[in-house]
Formats: sequence, structure tokens, C-alpha cells
Amino acid sequence: MNYAELYQQSIDKPDAFWSEEAKLIDWHTPAVQVLDYSRPPFSRWFVGGKTNLCHNAVDRWLPTQADKPALIAVSTENPDGVPTEKIFSFRDLHAEVQRVAAMMLSLGVAKGDRVLLYMPMIPEATIAMLACARIGAIHSVVFGGFAANSLATRIDDATPKLIFSADAGSRNGKVIPYKPLLDEAIKFARHKPGHVVLVDRGLAPMNIEAGRDLDFATLRIQHMDAQVPVTWLDSTEVSYILYTSGTTGKPKGVQRDVGGYAVALASSMKRIFCGNPGETYFCTSDIGWVVGHSYIVYGPLIAGMATVMYEGLPVRPDAGIWWSLVEKYKITRMFSAPTAIRVLKKQPPELMRQHDLSSLRALYLAGEPLDQTTSEWIGGMLGIPVIDNYWQTESGWPILTIAKGVDDHPTRLGSPGLPMPGYRVKIVNESTGAVCGANEKGVVVIEGPLPPGFMQTVYGDDQRFLDTYWTEANGKQVYSSFDWGIRDADGYYFILGRTDDVINVAGHRLGTREIEESISSHSNVSEVAVVGVDDKLKGQVAVAFVIPKNAEAAATPESRQAFALEVMAVVDQQLGALARPAQVHVVSLLPKTRSGKLVRRAIQAICEGRDPGDVTTIEDPAALQQVRAALSGP
Ligand code: ATP
Ligand code: MG
Repeated sequence: MNYAELYQQSIDKPDAFWSEEAKLIDWHTPAVQVLDYSRPPFSRWFVGGKTNLCHNAVDRWLPTQADKPALIAVSTENPDGVPTEKIFSFRDLHAEVQRVAAMMLSLGVAKGDRVLLYMPMIPEATIAMLACARIGAIHSVVFGGFAANSLATRIDDATPKLIFSADAGSRNGKVIPYKPLLDEAIKFARHKPGHVVLVDRGLAPMNIEAGRDLDFATLRIQHMDAQVPVTWLDSTEVSYILYTSGTTGKPKGVQRDVGGYAVALASSMKRIFCGNPGETYFCTSDIGWVVGHSYIVYGPLIAGMATVMYEGLPVRPDAGIWWSLVEKYKITRMFSAPTAIRVLKKQPPELMRQHDLSSLRALYLAGEPLDQTTSEWIGGMLGIPVIDNYWQTESGWPILTIAKGVDDHPTRLGSPGLPMPGYRVKIVNESTGAVCGANEKGVVVIEGPLPPGFMQTVYGDDQRFLDTYWTEANGKQVYSSFDWGIRDADGYYFILGRTDDVINVAGHRLGTREIEESISSHSNVSEVAVVGVDDKLKGQVAVAFVIPKNAEAAATPESRQAFALEVMAVVDQQLGALARPAQVHVVSLLPKTRSGKLVRRAIQAICEGRDPGDVTTIEDPAALQQVRAALSGP
């Protein structure tokens, strides 16, 4: 079956399609109903079925590949940046997961209880996630870079009985203590966890609160021989809660099920990522993000692959590090983000070329728009397909991409591709809800029922799920992605930025992404952010912050001015004078989340003299300082 036939079947005969895909995983009890859509837009997948994510990720592979690697944890976060590795076979992983499951049970954690993880990229984090899945505890992983108040909000929302954490993380060889942040967060939070289990990496001293704080290693030793059978869960029970990145506002607690998610991941590993048992997968994300949940932890293991978990930067000890891992572990599929590739692009290409990359068959990139330059550069370097994929924390797996595991459908530059099975993607007019014609810009929406793996609801708040995401368009209930897009005549989709990233200049609506794309085509532009800023005369004007490739452009007020004029001229020529930024500022850093997403709302707030609000998701606060300085400087 080719892509078009497969997709059409998933839309026309969803029950038949998904019951076939469901065979990709193990079930304790098969489902009696594929989809219950009696209370739209809430979808309940594989009703009556019982399964378990940890069983499918670990136990399932014991009979055939107990001694093959399952988890390869590599860290370059030590003072000299030399990689250290810990390899767990499926047998080892099975034992470790049971130890942690037993420790949780001994602390009174039961099925349905929430367990929060605030952890660096260490194997204990993956093991703890799998242990939660094993006993039916609901994990909520909070990205280790978040500050105390962001963490406190998530503690109050998820109300965990137990928290797993560590003494410290490390970034660029510098120790970042976690424990003081965690203590502060717990102090801020209204909800108090019963226990905190701490992995002591010997990196930073910890204040231990007697009775509450426990040592991971000590508990582990007490449960060395633990045998904890998996708890079979209803397909529709909750596996985890994960908060969205908060790029556009208050994070939402995305709630995911068990069976639908397992099937969606197994299906995506086969159809999209071409994962085969015994091969090795490397996803460079962080377990704190959805990409890490789906494609560091669950997806590859469910497919019987070894998964590489990497703690460190892509350029330390040098920019060859990731490629040395590809060579060493014979990685076949790699998943990263455009932002990381742009970082590597600035490095000497020899560092990459010196490694044998012949095992690698495709590179998948997601998380933000993949610009043509980056895509072509990395594609040229690797000589393998570079596959953009578009999705959200909410979806849990790709919405749009090219299903390389199905057929050899061509990719198209600038487009993440075509809808994946079960996704009824439409582009609709923002005000009328009518479906847009080819190449006509509108909002990317998905008609219900949403496919397996997609969020079930906002945790603890069905009403917020309905109010936030669902609207009516074209007489149907649709889920809004809050992204702009177009669909071309051949059915390829293009993502044009977020619906709240639109600016209104003298009554004309312009996407900041389009202006950014245009500016990026200037040969001396490395990165750019465009925001709409209030203007008495025009309503809003575009203001651009540009990182030049060649630092000379930033050297003097004159060179900055000349560069700004060139940038404006490019926009003039490509999009017209209306889109021309009123100001072009030269900076060397832009405010981004650690997952590489530009936080435009913070830049915009500063430009308008407002408080930028919650900026704890921003990787480097110096970036905001640069924006301020650029606005006040000559
Ligand atoms: P919040 O919803 O809290 O504001 P967020 O949307 O940044 O946070 P995520 O769910 O991590 O949180 O990001 C999903 C968004 O990332 C998409 O809606 C889209 O805007 C962008 N995105 C992801 N992949 C791609 C891609 N391949 N091309 C273009 N944009 C992408
Ligand atoms: Mg979002």
C-alpha cells in the first residue's frame, strides 16, 4: 500500500485501520471497541483493551533480545567533556525498572497517583518514567531547566505524591544545582509531596529534609531483587501529564492515555521512523519535552530498538560529538531540531566528516520551522534524507511529515509534508471557518475524532480543553493548532508561524514568520526574530532582531545602520514595503526556550515597554538584556 492508499484507509475505515495498527503492540486483553466517540470531541481509543507501556517497551523484548542494548546513556557533562557511557541491556533495564517500581510502591505510590520528575538527562530519569508506567502511576516530567516558580505551578497542578530529582544537572561542564530550586518550588507550592527521592550524583551539596527526602541509591539497594509484575491498565487510563512549552502563554497540562499512545508510537516507529528491532535510535531532545517522551523513551523501545540518551551540548567537547556517537553505536535514525543543526552549521565541517556515518539512513527534524538553508546544508553534509516533521506536545507524534516507512514519497523543501494516518488536517479561514483553497493561507485545524496518541484532555480540566482548542469550522468541530499554514495544489502543507505571531500593519495582516524567512535569505543573516510592536500611526509595525553571520556588521553604529538598511531592502524587494521592519536591530543572541523556540512575546513586551512576564522558560536571560540594550542604543 502506498502513502495515499494508507492515509485514505485511515480516514475512510478508521476502525479497520487502527485495529490493524494495534497489532503492533502486545495487549493483555484486546479492545472490544476501537473508538468510542460518543462524547465528542473526546476520543476514547481501544476501549476495553488492557495493556501497559512498560511491558511493551521492556518486558516484551526479553524473549528475543534480553542481552541487546536497550538504553545507551552518554554524558559529556563533566569537567573535560570526555564522553562517559552506561549501557543497559533489555535485561538490565527490566531489573532497574522493577527496583524503582518497588521503591515507589514501598513509598505508598499507587495506580493513578502522580509522580513528578525534575531530573537531568541521566538514565535514572528514563528508568523512573518506565517504572511509573509499569505500576500505573502517572508521571509528569518537568524540564530540568525550569526555575522554581515554573516548577511550583506544575507541582500545584499535578499534585504529585512523590518527586524524583537529583542534586544537580550540568550544562557546558558547569554544575547547576537542582535541589535548592526544588526546595524553593516546594516552599512556594500549595501542594506538598509526601516524599522526594534524590539521585546524588556527587555534584552539589544538598540540604536534606528528614522524613521527606530520601536517597535513590539507598532505596535501590533495598530493592535489588524486586520483582514487580506490570499492572495491566485500561487503554483509556492516564499514562502521563506533560506541560506545553509555554511559548505563547500559560502552559497546559496535556494528558495522554495508555493504549492509544502505545499504538500511535508503534505505528509511527514503523511508518515514519522505520525503526527495526536491534537497531539504534538517537533523539537529541530532552526527556522534559514531548519529543523526549515519545522518541527518547517510549517509541524506540516499543519498536525494540536501543535508544541513545545524551546529556550534553552538541558542540562539547567539539562539534563532532554527536557524529562520533552515530559511528560508535551504528545509529540508523536520528531525530533533532533545526536549532541544533544551525549551531552545528557554524562549526568546522571536518569535525563531522571525520566520522563514519554510513549506518545513518535518515535525519528527522522537528520543533520549529525548518528553513531551506539549514535543511540543504545538513542534507548535503550527510547525503541522506532530511525529514521535517510538524507536531505539538498535544499530538504526541507527528501530524505532518513524509512517511518514509510506507513509500518513497518525495519531500518538498519548506514543507513538513503530508498528514499522517488518522489526521484530518484542514486549512480554514480564520473568520469564516471555510476550508481554504490551494495556497490560500489559513489556520491549521484537525477535524475530530483525533487519532490515537493525541491528548485526551487538559489534566483535570475538560472545560479548558474544550475552550482552549475547539471551535466550529465548516459545520464541524475542529481542533485548532494555533498555527498558520497553507496547503499547496499537491497536498503538501507549509507552516507559516503561530496565529498569535501575526501583526497588523495599517490594516494588513502579516505573519512574522514570512518576514523572518525573507530576512533570512540575506547572505549575512544567521538568525532573526520579528515581532509586531504597537504603533500610533499604523496600529503595529514589524521590528526585527538579527544575528549577523559576520560579526563585522555589528562592529560600529555605522556598520549596524548599513546592515539594517540592506535587510530592509531585502524585505522591500521580496514582500513589499508594507512588511519592511520599521527597525532592524543587530544582536548576538535571541531569547529562546531550551527547545529552540523563539519567545517572541517576551521581545514584544520589551519593545512595548511592558513587563515580559514569565521568562523562566528562556534559556539565556542575557538575550533579553541584549534586546533592551539594542532598543536603547544608537
Ligand atoms: P505553548 O503551546 O505552551 O505556547 P509551544 O506551542 O511552543 O508552547 P510545543 O507543543 O512544544 O509548545 O510546540 C509545538 C509548536 O511548535 C507547533 O504548534 C508549531 O508552532 C511549532 N512546530 C513544531 N514542529 C514544527 C515544524 N516542523 N515546522 C514548523 N513549526 C513547528
Ligand atoms: Mg502550542
